[in-house]
Amino acid sequence: MREAVAAALSRGASEGRSTAVLLVGLEGADGAARDGFGELIRRSVLRDDPIGRFGDEYAAVLQDIRSVDNAEAVARRIAVAGPARIGIAVAAPGEYGADDLLNRAALALQEARSRPDGAPWACYEPDPTATTPLAEALREATTKDQLRLLYQPIVALPDAELTGVEALVRWAHPERGTLEPDAFVPLAERVGLIGEIGRWVLQEASTQAARWQRRMPALQLNVNVSPRQLDDDGFAAEVLRVLDRTGFFPGNLVLEVTEGAVIGAPASVAQLAVLSNAGIRIALDDFGTGYSSLRYLARLPVDVLKLDRLFVAELDGTSRGGAVAQAVLRLGQILNLDTVAEGVENEAQARELTLLGCHKAQGYHFARPLTPAELQRWLPAGDLSRYEAEVWGPEV
Ligand code: C2E
Ligand code: CA
Ligand code: CA
Repeated sequence: MREAVAAALSRGASEGRSTAVLLVGLEGADGAARDGFGELIRRSVLRDDPIGRFGDEYAAVLQDIRSVDNAEAVARRIAVAGPARIGIAVAAPGEYGADDLLNRAALALQEARSRPDGAPWACYEPDPTATTPLAEALREATTKDQLRLLYQPIVALPDAELTGVEALVRWAHPERGTLEPDAFVPLAERVGLIGEIGRWVLQEASTQAARWQRRMPALQLNVNVSPRQLDDDGFAAEVLRVLDRTGFFPGNLVLEVTEGAVIGAPASVAQLAVLSNAGIRIALDDFGTGYSSLRYLARLPVDVLKLDRLFVAELDGTSRGGAVAQAVLRLGQILNLDTVAEGVENEAQARELTLLGCHKAQGYHFARPLTPAELQRWLPAGDLSRYEAEVWGPEV
């Protein structure tokens, strides 16, 4: 297991991905139940993710973590199936070695076994004062002007006409080059920097999109929100303040949250309701990969379902391949929600999604995430008044 962790960490460091270790301790389970758990863990992780034994426990290495939330979703899936306690530890690329990560997962498992609230898993929280070089550098990224935004077009089906953009953050690291969000968003979440980064993203993206709206007033702006941002009671008020400052119309903003951020989190839902009442639209991101509690969905202040690219990749013209996509899109229709398919990479997928009644799509088939200058070319030409061209400066 140690070697599997070490291999995953070195791959993660070179590919800029975060890695998580889950240690699963079974409480009073006998031989057969234990074997059943091994199988359950196998089915709860991705196909390439190594699992195995680590001392008395099962261990799983998650190699493609987009946020701490992903690791918690796996833990939740395992925990609902039986008497397991789970310790989670996450490493940003190059952040820890294998022993450190396994030790941290073991500490988290200890905590999971003694939690007063009875929650079956715990995530190792690094002492925010005992920081790593990467976390130190990230702390300065916003003030040193090292964050950038790319914008990926979202288009209407079947005509592929632009309807909006999703803002995707990048970190121009002074030594390591441009880092993708997988390489630093989970770290930012753990060391308490995601609030500041999220604020910067919203401020920057809404300033930029407000300019583009002079050419395309209906343009919508999608911004990702981490579950940790919703934990902060001041989040909704903060968003409204930023929009006020940048003059961006709330009705054109879509905030993307994951199911995990809202299921069982009434305080987070209350904040979304405030934002929703202010006219901001809420999208459930990566829909279908998380908890997918259909029982809650109808009651959430949600306007958009984003079908995860996992299910788009399964589309192959057969009803089995399209089963999840079809179920999600149908659910969207019944609840009267806007539906957006993610990760559309070819014409056949676009066609099948259109047939299934999907409203919008996003993916390399239409466009990769673009710089502001590149995105500009997607906008309708429009006449700029001299006032706009000269007084407001170049549009990018
Ligand atoms: P996401 O919200 O699911 O964003 C879509 C991701 O899919 C983007 O990766 C995008 O580049 C990628 N993608 C788009 N089209 C295709 C396609 O056709 N095929 C494939 N294979 N991939 C495609 P990216 O930019 O690396 O972002 C990764 C994740 O990081 C995002 O996933 C989102 O969860 C998170 N993220 C990005 N920006 C922010 C941000 O400002 N704040 C927070 N909290 N999270 C962010
Ligand atoms: Ca998103
Ligand atoms: Ca997504």
